[in-house]
Amino acid sequence: MKTLDWNTLFGERARRIQASTIRELLKLTQRPGVISFAGGLPAPELFPKGLAAEKAAAILRDKGEVALQYGPTEGYFPLRAWVAEWLGLSPEEVLITTGSQQALDLLGKVFLDEGSPLLLEAPSYMGAIQAFRPYGPRFLTVPAGEEGPDLEALEEALKGERPRFLYLIPSFQNPSGGLMPLPARKRLLEMAMARGLVVVEDDAYRELYFGESRLPSLFELAREAGYPGVIYLSSFSKILAPGLRVAFVAAHPEAILKLTQAKQGADLHSPVLNQMLVHALVQEGFPERLALIRQTYREKAEAMLSALDREMPAGVRYTRPKGGMFVWMTLPEGLSAERLFQRAIEENVAFVPGSPFFAEGGGENTLRLSYATMDRARIEEGVRRLGRALKGLLAL
Ligand code: PMP
Repeated sequence: MKTLDWNTLFGERARRIQASTIRELLKLTQRPGVISFAGGLPAPELFPKGLAAEKAAAILRDKGEVALQYGPTEGYFPLRAWVAEWLGLSPEEVLITTGSQQALDLLGKVFLDEGSPLLLEAPSYMGAIQAFRPYGPRFLTVPAGEEGPDLEALEEALKGERPRFLYLIPSFQNPSGGLMPLPARKRLLEMAMARGLVVVEDDAYRELYFGESRLPSLFELAREAGYPGVIYLSSFSKILAPGLRVAFVAAHPEAILKLTQAKQGADLHSPVLNQMLVHALVQEGFPERLALIRQTYREKAEAMLSALDREMPAGVRYTRPKGGMFVWMTLPEGLSAERLFQRAIEENVAFVPGSPFFAEGGGENTLRLSYATMDRARIEEGVRRLGRALKGLLAL
């Protein structure tokens, strides 16, 4: 059979898309018996399976000709209107996307040229780095911790640079779990307004707060201040079901229009049946559902933190999340999370090493633990195994 050298046939952009060594590592986490804190998946016991079955059947029976037909690129109108009302906006300010992941890709398509400066946190969401990288941006990063990005470093990074946008996850950051306090949000917004800087706010975890209420988003604060430069992303993945791939962007109508044009070329529209199903699901017991989700993750986080407090040797630091799905761990300087991973797999426990979350490299001694998919007993056992792996490595 004739062979082709595919790598010479692909375009320039494809050269920037590379298999990640981490994804290869993570295949090991699928082995039977492994307790995996690696995935970023929501808890499956929270999926509204019964209600979804009922609603999907009713939609297909009563509105099948809409559900199975092509739909508008902007989204199924009743869902768009519902999201707009939820956020206190008008429907022209909302675009429904096929997951927030698609929104990230569309933002890359619309804003980035080869060599464009792009500012993000270090660490930041791996999937965002992956979505932006093919467009060839020049990544600039600012360190981020438990209270979000370091604003002094941000101020410094903005001297002499005009990034196309700043990508941020201010609430329950993936991977660090960080939460930007209100004064920091306000200060960041002032910095953006003074420079006309576009801020992309990814609020995938907006409803997963453990306290009494959520902090106002940068997007909300910007609207109050009359600044149109914040583009807001969120999703139904963490509050209903990620497999439906239904998410949304909220932004100034001109930005929405350009993103809509870009989406047209990507997939015409998000699946209508899924959008109709999401619309039906948010009509029934939604506030109660959100309360249950928060309580479930709060309990899982507490289980993980108390196990870590018991099992981790001195010198290991970890965050105490106020929401979301992740604990971020920093090992003593010089200790490699990838080496720990090898040992941990022998103990049948897994996590994600932190370095791929750093667009400019670094973070070799960091790692992310997700407590979302495990019950208390598995969390406790997994952390015990992790403690053994760590102590083994430290004793070498
Ligand atoms: N942004 C962040 C910060 C995420 O953690 C994720 C998913 N883990 C996404 C976006 C993508 O979510 P979606 O399922 O809506 O594509």
